[in-house]
Amino acid sequence: MFDLKPELDRRREAGLYRQRSIVSSAQSVRLTINGQSLLSFSSNDYLGLANHPDIKKSFINATEQYGVGSGAAHLITGHSQLHHECELRLAEFTGRDRALLFSNGYMANLAIASALVGRHDIIHQDKLNHSSLIDAAKISGAKLKRYRHSDLDQLKSQLALSTTDDNTSVRQLIMTDGVFSMDGDCADLNRLSQLASESNSVCMVDDAHGFGVLGATGAGLLEQCGLGQQQVPILMATLGKAIGTSGAFVAGSDALIETLIQQARPYIYTTASPPAIAAATICSLDIVKRDHWRRDKLQTLIVYFQQRMKNTKFKLMPSDTAIQPIVIGNNNQVLLLSEQLLKSGIQVTPIRPPTVPAGSARLRITLSTLHEKTDIDQLIKALLASQ
Ligand SMILES: *Cc1c(COP(=O)(O)O)cnc(C)c1O
Repeated sequence: MFDLKPELDRRREAGLYRQRSIVSSAQSVRLTINGQSLLSFSSNDYLGLANHPDIKKSFINATEQYGVGSGAAHLITGHSQLHHECELRLAEFTGRDRALLFSNGYMANLAIASALVGRHDIIHQDKLNHSSLIDAAKISGAKLKRYRHSDLDQLKSQLALSTTDDNTSVRQLIMTDGVFSMDGDCADLNRLSQLASESNSVCMVDDAHGFGVLGATGAGLLEQCGLGQQQVPILMATLGKAIGTSGAFVAGSDALIETLIQQARPYIYTTASPPAIAAATICSLDIVKRDHWRRDKLQTLIVYFQQRMKNTKFKLMPSDTAIQPIVIGNNNQVLLLSEQLLKSGIQVTPIRPPTVPAGSARLRITLSTLHEKTDIDQLIKALLASQ
């Protein structure tokens, strides 16, 4: 066997060692973790749907009818009627021609990049994009150019540099998080899509943290920005966050979806997710559309948290979403702070490099519709009591 221990030891010494906590309760803002009952601020279940009774019921009913496993890949015999209906619903909800389901967001991103660009092409990415987008660029073989976080002037000059008359056959793909997953701020999609159209490149948005939460009907950041398929031809969003189920989808034109079905290896060579997941997702989409109060309450909690944190020793980041991180900087310091919170019965996961840039370790606080103002009071009290 390889000598693996030195690297593990190095990680431990650098405060980078990661450990999994064992959760023995249903997903909620109150979790039993390693046997201890805790108030949690770490989940992406922003709308409190992961344990919703109606969604569970549709999951169970579909399991009775279809069984658990899908049995095969989508192109063999794994593509059920429920997957099909779920794709129709996602296309309608996002106002796109078609949608295609994936087992998870990581693979959806790999699929997009690997099917659409190759080694003669260029991918432009924000430096703070999710790791799955970085990996997507790597497996595509395209040249990856990264611009400073939200620095669209830099993107503009990158695009200008890459666009010359003699390389019109070079494809340029801009890939960005909609809501940045570790910071909570949003990409300026209106300007970004404008830059894309001016430079003849194509804009792809990963709306993992906006879908379900943002926009008048919950269709996400693109709905909030008023951007359709014309402006943003490739939309990816995940279903394991605000939607509360599992998986992801890509939405766009018929030609885009057909290209992914024909050519995207991360789509073709993997077993379809359980059909019951698709049934649960359909049910969840109904609830997302119907229950405006979930988005409204979340918004109220975000504003309440921001107001209560004003004039404390902790500085918030410029975020108006449910992701409200507090940057601490030092890896060991953030670990210490999260341990102190645990002693007060509060769980906030410390996020360290390489998930975030070196020197910007943070508590990634996330709020959920299921929180109450008194929960936020309790969190702030514990934060202020910490050393
Ligand atoms: C969570 C996340 C993903 C990955 O989605 P999974 O379904 O969890 O694999 C991709 N992109 C972003 C921005 C994410 O936050």
